Amino acid sequence: MIITLKKGITQSRIDALKDRLKQQCFPFWEAHWEGYPLFILSEDTPSDIVEWMDAEEAVESIVPVSTPYQLAGSDFKADRTRITIGNEEIGGNALNLVAGPCSVESRSQIFEVAHFLSELGIKFLRGGAYKPRTSPYSFQGLEEGGLAMLREAADRYNMLVVTELLDYNLINTVAPYADIFQVGSRNMFNYYLLKQLGHTKHPVLLKRGMFASIQEWLLAAEYILLEGNPNVILCERGIRSYDSAVRNNMDIAAIPLIRQLSHLPIWADPSQGTGKQHLIEPMSKASVAAGADGLMIETHPDPDKALSDGAQSLDLNTYAHLVKAIQPFIDASDKKSYISGQLAFQ
Ligand code: PEP
Ligand code: MN
Repeated sequence: MIITLKKGITQSRIDALKDRLKQQCFPFWEAHWEGYPLFILSEDTPSDIVEWMDAEEAVESIVPVSTPYQLAGSDFKADRTRITIGNEEIGGNALNLVAGPCSVESRSQIFEVAHFLSELGIKFLRGGAYKPRTSPYSFQGLEEGGLAMLREAADRYNMLVVTELLDYNLINTVAPYADIFQVGSRNMFNYYLLKQLGHTKHPVLLKRGMFASIQEWLLAAEYILLEGNPNVILCERGIRSYDSAVRNNMDIAAIPLIRQLSHLPIWADPSQGTGKQHLIEPMSKASVAAGADGLMIETHPDPDKALSDGAQSLDLNTYAHLVKAIQPFIDASDKKSYISGQLAFQ
């Protein structure tokens, strides 16, 4: 249950309400949303407390919530969240296309990719500088040096940077280089990291844990929202299954399901979602048709030589082909284009 207090209410009034709630020995949490102070209470709150709250002049509204995630759910907020960064809007009228290598490998590599993508009108450049690799012997990323190259390339071509943050100790290191913090699949359950990201201003791309249920995923988002950062983007990237024919099982149904259960934008990552180059285009089409707000795809000038995830990275011309091939699916969706404010390929 979410109790929204009136905007501009004094701290002493809030403290008085808190004292009274504490006297009832009933657990509650404090949060903020769009400038409104909130109290979050559990659904089994006794009716006398609810009635008392309802009669309080300081209370703007009381919204019952039927799901364990409160702020992330559509009971609390029916309209879809839009996140604005610079000229780009996430979860708005444009499909967000996010592309770039799995890992930043060199200055020339990231500049070549950024240049090519910017010619296509792509505004979001991805690239990992701190890589969560299964083996400690695999390439671990160029770390801060890689971040600097990524930022430089993005600035040169007027793009936004999406990059993974592996640990809360890295927040201050990564923040100046990133526009969006990516939380990878392996870290979706890292609740301490999620809480720390709730204290930052950067939008957070929260990838689905590879064995996370939809509810666990939305509760992970709730950790960030509850700490005060409303800018969370979810990303379906496939879940583990028994079938080794694909790297992960991309859960396309999760896309419309998230749109029903939550107001948060939802992107899809068919690269991690399938692990196979030739499955990326069909799964991109399926994701857009299913209502994805964005597509994150690994692209590399020479995938055979990639230091990570080459098998699920598209070479640049194949990516350009994909961007054209998904256009009819964009037209059939609730998006106008992948370029904000204008139609692609005019
Ligand atoms: C990635 O985007 O390169 C990545 C490691 O993703 P995930 O966390 O989904 O595996
Ligand atoms: Mn990758």
